[in-house]
Parts: sequence; C-alpha cells; structure tokens
Amino acid sequence: MTQYEYSLDFARKMDQEDELSVFREMFFFPKVNGKEAIYFCGNSLGLQPKSVREYLEKDLESWADKAVDGHFDGDSPWFSVHKRSKSALSEIVGAKEHEVVVMNSLTSNLHALMVSFYRPAGKRVKIITEAGAFPSDMYMLESQVKVHGLDPDKTIIEIAPRSGEHTLRTEDIIETIEANKEELALVMMAGLQYYTGQVFDMKAITSAGHQAGAFVGFDLAHAAGNFPLQLHEWGMDFAAWCSYKYLNSGPGNVAGIFVHERHADSPELVRFAGWWGHNEQERFKMEKGFKPMYGADGWQASNGNVLGMAAHQASLDIFQEAGMHKLREKSLKLTGYLEFLIKKISGNSGVLEIITPENHNERGCQLSLLIHKGGKAVFDEFYQNGIVGDWRNPNVVRIAPTPLYNSFEDVFRFAKILEQSLKKFA
Ligand SMILES: *Cc1c(COP(=O)(O)O)cnc(C)c1O
Repeated sequence: MTQYEYSLDFARKMDQEDELSVFREMFFFPKVNGKEAIYFCGNSLGLQPKSVREYLEKDLESWADKAVDGHFDGDSPWFSVHKRSKSALSEIVGAKEHEVVVMNSLTSNLHALMVSFYRPAGKRVKIITEAGAFPSDMYMLESQVKVHGLDPDKTIIEIAPRSGEHTLRTEDIIETIEANKEELALVMMAGLQYYTGQVFDMKAITSAGHQAGAFVGFDLAHAAGNFPLQLHEWGMDFAAWCSYKYLNSGPGNVAGIFVHERHADSPELVRFAGWWGHNEQERFKMEKGFKPMYGADGWQASNGNVLGMAAHQASLDIFQEAGMHKLREKSLKLTGYLEFLIKKISGNSGVLEIITPENHNERGCQLSLLIHKGGKAVFDEFYQNGIVGDWRNPNVVRIAPTPLYNSFEDVFRFAKILEQSLKKFA
C-alpha cells in the first residue's frame, strides 16, 4: 500500500518514480481559458496521440499513389486492414486474435451482434440488463425487442441497486438470472457502468447466464483500455466497445467486437451478412451463397474504414508499448491517490460522496462523485480552473485520471481546486 500525502512534493515524487510518465508527451492536451487543461475526461473522449497524423499520412499516400491498387499493394494493403489491430486489441481485451475485429461503430455493432445472439423463442424471450444503462444501449435493446414483435416493458428486466445503495450486488444479479431462468434469452449489460464506474463480475455473470441457458454479452465502452479484461477466459458469447474513449482513437471512430471462439465456426448462427464477412478466398468471385469467415471476422459487413483504422492503430501501438499490465498498476495508484485526496478534503462533511466501489476489482480509473451540496456550481468552478471532467444529471461528477497521460501532479492540482470550490459553494 502506498502511503499517500497531500503535497505537491509527494505528487512530483510519484511522477518521477513512474516509468510510464514518458507517455504523457505522446498526446495533445486541450486548452481551457488559454491554459493547458487538466484532462480527466478520457472516459468520454480520449486525447489525440501526436502520432495519429503520421499513421493517417501513410494510408493517404497509398490512396494518392496507388488508388485502387492500395487494396493489394504496399506493405500493409487494405484488403487485410482489419488484421492490423488484432495483436494489440486481443491483448487489451484478453482474447484470441480471431475473436476480435474492428468494424463500424459501437451501437451498430451491438445491433449486429444482437441479430445473432438475441434469438427469442417460445417462452425464452427475456433480456436482463442493468437499470440506468447508457441510453444508446437502452434504445438498442428496446428496438431489438420490438423487431421480434415483443413488448420491451414485459421483456427487458432491469436490475437496480438496493434502496440506499448506488451500485449493484453480484448476488442480486445472479439471483435475478436464476429467478428468470425458464424465460431468459440474453444477459446484456455494461462491463463497467458509465455512471457509477462500477465493474461487474463478468465471469460470474457469464457463468450464471450460461447455466440459465441464455447467451451473455457485454458493452465494454468504458472498460476497454481501462480495466484488465479476460474475455476469452470469462467465456461471454460476445462483447463490443468503442475506440474513442480510453482507446484514444478519435471521435466516432471505428469500434471493436469480440465473439467467443465457441462461435467461431458456426455458419448456422444467423447474422446480417456482407461481403467482407464472406470467406476471403472466394470474396472476389462475387458469387451467391454467404460463407462466413472464421471467428469475429465473419461479422464484418463492409470493407474496412482504412483512415479510421489508421488513427485507431496509432493509439493501439501506444497501448502495446506501455502494456495493459503496467497501465493497470499505475492506474490503481493514480485513482487511489485521487480517492485519498477527495476523502481527505471532504472528510465527513457530507458534502460529497464517492459512489464508485472502493474494491479495486470493482472499478477502473474513474471515480464518480455524488455532490450533495453546491452541485453544478462546484463543477463549473472546476472548469473555470482548467479541469475537464464530466457532469451527469442530477448531481454526479465523473473524474477519470488515465494512466497513459495523467500524472500524480494532475491529481494533486485537482484536489487543490476541489478544496477551493467546496469552500466557495458547498
Ligand atoms: C459511449 C457509449 C456508447 C456510445 O455509442 P456509439 O455508438 O459509439 O455512439 C454506447 N454505450 C455505452 C455503454 C457507452 O459508454
């Protein structure tokens, strides 16, 4: 256990000892009021790696010099562009390379995966999810249920925290799964809840879902690149995530999917097919009769977004250089420091409360602060002082120090501003 101290000297000492501190230089920081911001919003939009331009240039040059021949010529032809990311991504999410692929965007990918893994039949129609899920996921689930002619209110079961609690208990999730086992078609929830920052026990949930005879999938938008994942081992059927949050790949950029190996060679699994998911040896024969590629690749519909993937790759290469294991080690200390300082400053005043679980296995880098007094004024004061965090109604501030580009000094400076804001408004 690190003995934390509320002092600039201590924060700087931690930064000096941090072997990942060099990575900060690889990113552009935005300015607020003309000064470089303290950026804690990588859970919404990760910073731009300085190397992105160079990666884009390469494919722009291929396009300029080779045009259509760029699909097959050069040292990284576009025909196989989806393979570039597999090595880094499979490390980040703990999967085999054929279990992951990059395509489309997150919500579209969830829809595509639901076509295969939400197969309501007879009594088995229900979906279990967490209450207060990210809205896109709620709309996605509702509309998928309607596609099958079912009523979302009777089909989707939302698990809420117990009264007086902010986060879910694994036992309650498992109990709900067991209680609905005759009628359950799918468990589909976040891996890391965007509002509370809670990480769910994906392994236990997957196992309970499978025992109930259901498919299990997770939205990992807030987990990928943040929390160490072992998707293959945990055994979920599918997962999806975006690349622009912790994965720093640019607004709205291409997204990742995971399909477990057990479904890698299942041509009978229905899907919304397209030519890029078709057996690549025969793709250009342009013939009838869809034969899916082995693994996650078989879910690709269109040819890959080459420029998007170039930006994505710039970031993935940085992740691979840093290594998820080391990133997590630093993240635990960095967020631990943030937690220590917040508790020190707010004490027992009751002004604010951290609703993210204390247990390291149940959180990533983000802490969600429930502000009981001062609310939005406290948050606005943060911003005026150069802190980019994130406000969620009715009264939650989300602060996400990322181990790639945030420092202990960032966290210390945030604490100073928090102290000042609370004095002023709370
Ligand atoms: C960020 C986020 C999304 C965003 O979906 P897009 O399709 O990328 O716009 C969806 N779900 C969750 C859980 C998210 O955190």
